[in-house]
Amino acid sequence: MAKYINADCRLCRREGTKLFLKGERCTSKKCALDKRPGVPGMHPTTRKKPSQYALQLREKQKVKRAYGLLEKQFHGYYEEAERMKGKTGETMLSLLERRLDNVCYRLGLGSSRAQARQIVNHTHILVNGKKVNIPSYQVKVGDVISVKETSAKSELFAAVREARVIVPKWLEFDPATLTGKIVALPAREDIDLTIAEHLIIELYSK
Ligand code: SF4
Repeated sequence: MAKYINADCRLCRREGTKLFLKGERCTSKKCALDKRPGVPGMHPTTRKKPSQYALQLREKQKVKRAYGLLEKQFHGYYEEAERMKGKTGETMLSLLERRLDNVCYRLGLGSSRAQARQIVNHTHILVNGKKVNIPSYQVKVGDVISVKETSAKSELFAAVREARVIVPKWLEFDPATLTGKIVALPAREDIDLTIAEHLIIELYSK
């Protein structure tokens, strides 16, 4: 599978917003966007007013990169949302939030979505007591997310117990047992990234 290999911080600088791709670094003074705002590269664009297409494209790239997806995967969420009832943009964001790697990130089991994905890939995570190593797994209301007993003793998760992560209201988390629960489906207001999803829908509807 194709993989993005350049520095993650370039993506934030390109999109002009924090995508929180590097864990603790993102909230520290080392954040590259805070230190060097502006489009990376030798010849940053000087065009003042972007076209509507450019706005749509940038919005799509921003969300796709925040969730760490490639184009085909990301477009798949749009297609799925379009088939479902409700507003396509909001449904698409809800589907993205319900990915298991994102849920682990939201619970604080990984400091970034990339780290959370690795944790899932390495079979540290159980869903309803069963090993699930598929980052795109869609959680549903009532699912219990926990850490495999042997993994829970590792240093990686010791730090998670110490950290006090504020989880969104559609999730519950007990740091002592490293167990989370899906108590509702994520609503639009639960998604903290600044996203104009209608621009993405306009782009894909062409
Ligand atoms: Fe983006 Fe985090 Fe890098 Fe800052 S430190 S530019 S938020 S990935």
